[in-house]
Amino acid sequence: MQFIDLKAQYDQAKIRIDKRISEVLAHGQYILGPEVSELEHKLADYVGVKHAITCANGTDALQIALMTLGIKAGDAVIVPTFTFFASAEVIALVGATPIFIDSDPDTFNLSVEKLEATIQYVQNNTDLKIKAIIAVDLFGQPADYLNINTIAKKYNLKVIEDAAQGFGGKIGTRRAGSFADIATTSFFPAKPLGCYGDGGAVFTDNDEYAELIRSIRVHGKGTDKYDNIRIGLNSRLDTIQAAILLEKLAIFPAELIRRNEIANCYADLLGHKTDFKFPICKPNFTSSWAQYTIQVVNDTRDSVQNNAKIQGVPTAVYYGTCMHQQTVFKSIDLSITDLSTAEQLAKSCLSLPMHPYLTDIEVEQIVESLQNP
Ligand SMILES: *Cc1c(COP(=O)(O)O)cnc(C)c1O
Repeated sequence: MQFIDLKAQYDQAKIRIDKRISEVLAHGQYILGPEVSELEHKLADYVGVKHAITCANGTDALQIALMTLGIKAGDAVIVPTFTFFASAEVIALVGATPIFIDSDPDTFNLSVEKLEATIQYVQNNTDLKIKAIIAVDLFGQPADYLNINTIAKKYNLKVIEDAAQGFGGKIGTRRAGSFADIATTSFFPAKPLGCYGDGGAVFTDNDEYAELIRSIRVHGKGTDKYDNIRIGLNSRLDTIQAAILLEKLAIFPAELIRRNEIANCYADLLGHKTDFKFPICKPNFTSSWAQYTIQVVNDTRDSVQNNAKIQGVPTAVYYGTCMHQQTVFKSIDLSITDLSTAEQLAKSCLSLPMHPYLTDIEVEQIVESLQNP
């Protein structure tokens, strides 16, 4: 059994993907070829935003978003402490200070309850200028943007949506990637929409931001490519990856439906087990189920993982270390709020196999494998 079965997906779409790749090889426009703009239009349509701008990976996408907002040394950006490292890394990369915030115990996402207190703490107790919030759609469920955006507006902060895992998720009928001033995603192979290498995208409705993003991704170019008007990056999506993504995007809606069926199947089976807390979506929220992450009650995660392993079921711990516990961030005293929920999640979380090609029988096997045979 695979944790994420990319081979099964390729088998589904092989003929069309291979054809798309050979078309790129035939026309030879390997960088920013026609497939890239075709993909950008389709992504913008799908997400429901004016601009989708592809780039080299999801980490660059976040960095580009921060650069677009002009975030720099002396600035502070709020980010959940329970997330993938890149969400926090990029803040330090542009010279700003990450301010870690606790998580909601049910959704794993940024704790809206603690948001105002965190903002006020930074304003009252540090010299940092707080500029933005990076909210992460962790494991596929969008963060609570209605409340996040309201609080951000009150304190005049920008919001960045890190939808690396959330792509395909929804609040009501609106899609992830459309909830913030700027949103980002990743096409790393294991993400809900993945390519066969690295890739990413930035989404916005704001024309000025879009122009900046397009400039930053190609060395800060002006209207003329060789007139560099700012410092940027080299962060483009390869045409071959765009070609692959076009075919994967075509089957993505059906895959999302299946991911949700699998999540329901997991929930039904796990509902009968008292040792595990299964993940739930808030009413009106739809997850893309980038990960199916349960919480193991009673501090027995190692033995649960081992039971599964013995029975041939791969599991993973996303994430065992919070950002404020990472070696590189330890030197900065950032323990300004209570981060105990996130610490507890890091101790108890366990991600089970999740991909659209799992069968119901496999889901049953996985759930059974968590306990002693
Ligand atoms: C994967 C991921 C990223 C980074 O994406 P890459 O394409 O690997 O650079 C950023 N944030 C989150 C939440 C992620 O899961």
